[in-house]
Amino acid sequence: MTGGSDPGADDAHPTLAQEAGTAVSAAVLRLAYLTGAQIVQAPPWPGASLTEEQPEPGAGIRIALALERAARAGVRVYIRRASEAGMSWAQVGGALGVAELAQERGSSVAEAAWEYAAGRPAHLSGRPGEFRWVCPDCGEVVSDRGPGGRSPAEDEHGHAEGCHRLAAAVAQWLAQGD
Ligand SMILES: [Zn+2]
Repeated sequence: MTGGSDPGADDAHPTLAQEAGTAVSAAVLRLAYLTGAQIVQAPPWPGASLTEEQPEPGAGIRIALALERAARAGVRVYIRRASEAGMSWAQVGGALGVAELAQERGSSVAEAAWEYAAGRPAHLSGRPGEFRWVCPDCGEVVSDRGPGGRSPAEDEHGHAEGCHRLAAAVAQWLAQGD
C-alpha cells in the first residue's frame, strides 16, 4: 500500500481493493466451472459494449458468499498469527482499521479488534467470548478474553505454569499501572 491519498489509482498501479476485486471475479468464475454452475455470456456492467463469462446470478451469489466467508476465516487466521507473534489488540485493531467502528460503539480500538476476532460483541452476551491462539512460549492453547484492562493472567486463560511470555506480559501490565 503506497501513495495513500489517490483514490482512483491509475491502471499501471491498481489499488489493493482493485486487485482484490479482480482476484474475486477470477475465483468466482473458476469455482463456477469447478462446481458445474451454468455459465452465461453477459456484459460486466449494464450498457457495456463487451461481454464476459459469468456464472448465472444465483450461482454467483452462492459462490461469492462462500468466498466472503473464507476470506473472513482467513482474516482470523492472521489475527491468530498476530496474537501469537505478540501483537497487542490495539495493534491488531490498527491493521483491521476499526478505529471508526470503535468510535461509533464507544469502545477502544483494542476492544473492537477483539470483538471482530471473537465474532461477537462482548456487551451483548452475559458469557464472555474468547479468541483462541497457541502460545509460542509454553505451547498451550490460550483462551483470550480480550482487552478488559485486567491483568493478562485473567485475560489469557490456558498458559502453562511458569510460562515466560505470560510472566513478561503481567510484568509489563503491572509497570503500566504505576
Ligand atoms: Zn504461554
